[in-house]
Amino acid sequence: MKEEAVLDMPASETTPLLVVQTAPRRQRYPHHVLRRTCTVILGVVLAVALTLFVLPIRLVSRNDGSLSVNVPWSKSDSESWPHGDGLTYKELQAILQETPIAGKIEEWSKYYTAGPHLAGANFSQVLWTQEKWKEFGVDDTTIATYDVYINYPLDHRLALLKKKGADDYDIAFEATLEEDVLEEDSTSGLPDRVPTFHGYSATGNVTAPFVYANFGTYEDYQDLIDAGISVEGKIVIVKYGGLFRGLKVKRAQDLGAVGVIIYSDPQEDGDVTELNGYEAYPAGPARNPSAVQRGSVQFLSVAPGDPTTPGYASKPGVDRQSPEHSIPTIPSLPISYTEALPLLKALNGHGPKASEFNKYWQGGGLAHKGVEYNIGPTPDDIVINLYNQQDYVTTPLWNVIGVIKGTIPDEVVILGNHRDAWVAGGAGDPNSGSAALNEVVRSFGEALKTGWKPLRTIVFASWDGEEYGLVGSTEWVEENLPWLTVANAVYINVDAAATGPSLSVSASPLLNKAFYEITSIVQSPNQTIKGQTVRDTWDGRISSLGSGSDYTAFQEFAGVPSVSFGFSGGKSDPVYHYHSNYDSFDWMRRFGDPGWHYHVTTAKLFSLLGAYFSEKPILGFNATDYATHLQQYVDHIRPHADKLPEQTHFSFGPLERSISHLHAAAVDFDAYAADLGSQLSEDVPWYHWWKKLQLFYKIRGVNTKYKNFERKYLYEDGLDGRSWFKHVVFAPGLWTGYAGATYPGLVESLDAGNVTNAVRWSEIIQERIHEATKLLE
Ligand SMILES: [Zn+2]
Repeated sequence: MKEEAVLDMPASETTPLLVVQTAPRRQRYPHHVLRRTCTVILGVVLAVALTLFVLPIRLVSRNDGSLSVNVPWSKSDSESWPHGDGLTYKELQAILQETPIAGKIEEWSKYYTAGPHLAGANFSQVLWTQEKWKEFGVDDTTIATYDVYINYPLDHRLALLKKKGADDYDIAFEATLEEDVLEEDSTSGLPDRVPTFHGYSATGNVTAPFVYANFGTYEDYQDLIDAGISVEGKIVIVKYGGLFRGLKVKRAQDLGAVGVIIYSDPQEDGDVTELNGYEAYPAGPARNPSAVQRGSVQFLSVAPGDPTTPGYASKPGVDRQSPEHSIPTIPSLPISYTEALPLLKALNGHGPKASEFNKYWQGGGLAHKGVEYNIGPTPDDIVINLYNQQDYVTTPLWNVIGVIKGTIPDEVVILGNHRDAWVAGGAGDPNSGSAALNEVVRSFGEALKTGWKPLRTIVFASWDGEEYGLVGSTEWVEENLPWLTVANAVYINVDAAATGPSLSVSASPLLNKAFYEITSIVQSPNQTIKGQTVRDTWDGRISSLGSGSDYTAFQEFAGVPSVSFGFSGGKSDPVYHYHSNYDSFDWMRRFGDPGWHYHVTTAKLFSLLGAYFSEKPILGFNATDYATHLQQYVDHIRPHADKLPEQTHFSFGPLERSISHLHAAAVDFDAYAADLGSQLSEDVPWYHWWKKLQLFYKIRGVNTKYKNFERKYLYEDGLDGRSWFKHVVFAPGLWTGYAGATYPGLVESLDAGNVTNAVRWSEIIQERIHEATKLLE
């Protein structure tokens, strides 16, 4: 509001500057027109002077509403410019370090995990979150609503049948499709708990023989084809793990399978298994045998968001497309390993064994339960009946958006976490992040109480519908794309904040330096060595961004540099019951994060990273890191060219040359930016105010270039066959979903043996790198 007040300034405030208009009458010129013309010209000159000199200062200066402190010669102004107002960066950091506490985290966790909050079915939590954020001091907190196409479970059945006659079956096994109700886990027995099902799964009722397809990777299916085993007309049973579950279903569907069952094999549980002597939850840290992983089977690597509105926001009344391009047409169900046992055992003796296949097929975790991991198919008289009934609706879902206006209106820092969960709990995914985000908002609220105002605008987002396919964030980005393109400098994401003690991070390389700096100023909860920071206890690995959380639309559709991080468990930590009823408050308190220390640490990293980008006069990016990584990605993808037919030739030379030009420009640019930063601390006498003004313009220019740098990698037509994804460097792997693929267009062309298209993509990427280089030069 106050920025706009400058433009609509009341006449009284400008009076001293208009004094020329009331200059003494000049009797020598009786011609009023000439006099008026001169007055107008002088007025325009002064207005231009006002715009050029006073207004820019105003934009980066104190903002208490009075003009007097904003004129160049004001002493008070020179002290704060160009920083956030009311607190020094150090003072703000201290508040962000000290405010988050375990007691509050526990309170927020308890609230969010007390009952079901599926996408579009959590309105009380929407209002509660909005109220809390306002109470913390972020008055401008609103609800952004979208009408989206999603499914809710109605009914399901899974049974193993033995054929007796033409239409006569014996039921060999009837699955409960339920997770056990545990006395020690208070939300596992809620009467309104969420059934086991897949988001965006197809309604269907199929009965067919079945085949075991390992993890259901693209290569696993290829191995079956090579071994002469067809999944056509069959039901496929696969393990969770490795790749996004929707892509397991997609490949099965592409190959003519009629249904898919996905189960959680203890193979994925590291050392913490019952076989290794650990007791299962709730007695111990091993997986509860009845645990089921719900989750979306959307084709995430094709397009996230509402499948009926790809590329535009799901507002009421918009055109809707057929959703089939990005969701399955065959039914699927998730099951526990307990309920997978009878099905897997029914395969014993049928078809080759997994152990006869390559290394990726080895090591199933149920051999001790009598599973021989035969691939099948089962004979025609041993079949599965898979029935899945889903209610598809177009229904509202709600993002909560809180805004703290900064002094610079068009440089915006966004911090987000999703709120919706597959289960009543969701204590890890996502509400450990939601609890942390509440502490972040509360911390910034504490700063606001001191009269602080950030240099850049900070936006907090509590997304809905992430679980179905990043729906709330994608629709919001699609709706606000014009504004985000102009203003959004960075997006910081936390999904699950704490399900174990190991930090994992993925980011645009522009942010690597910032992340190393922030992790170096936050104490690790692990104090086996006194005083060690998060940076000290972390291996420093930062992955490239793929998909699987709400940064996707920012990074890969809008070209906003993003980072996503959180703490999770390793091989020897308690098994995290992902998307299961046992991702609960009780599990979190006892096994996931006893004492809530990793939640608190995430809150600190989250807010300090936000402040790093909102408060530093120079945006905290590093373009050199980006260029260095572009070269590393080339080295990673080089082996893909080996797959090309022998007589063809593809060279990475031109691409590497464009990267080395970028690297040179980036080194110079980062050095120039650092130099401007150090000039800020030089003492400039007040009568040289114009030098400061000049410096402001230079800093402004540098920040605009940093802000636009990532956008240069967007290619309007998008990737082949998945045009929603616009970034030529980062995308989810076509057949991985979660894991990032670098130079996706090029890699996919090489994998397909298509040299012409590989050359085409190399040129597209070079062109984008060239544009980014020009921006920095
Ligand atoms: Zn999540």
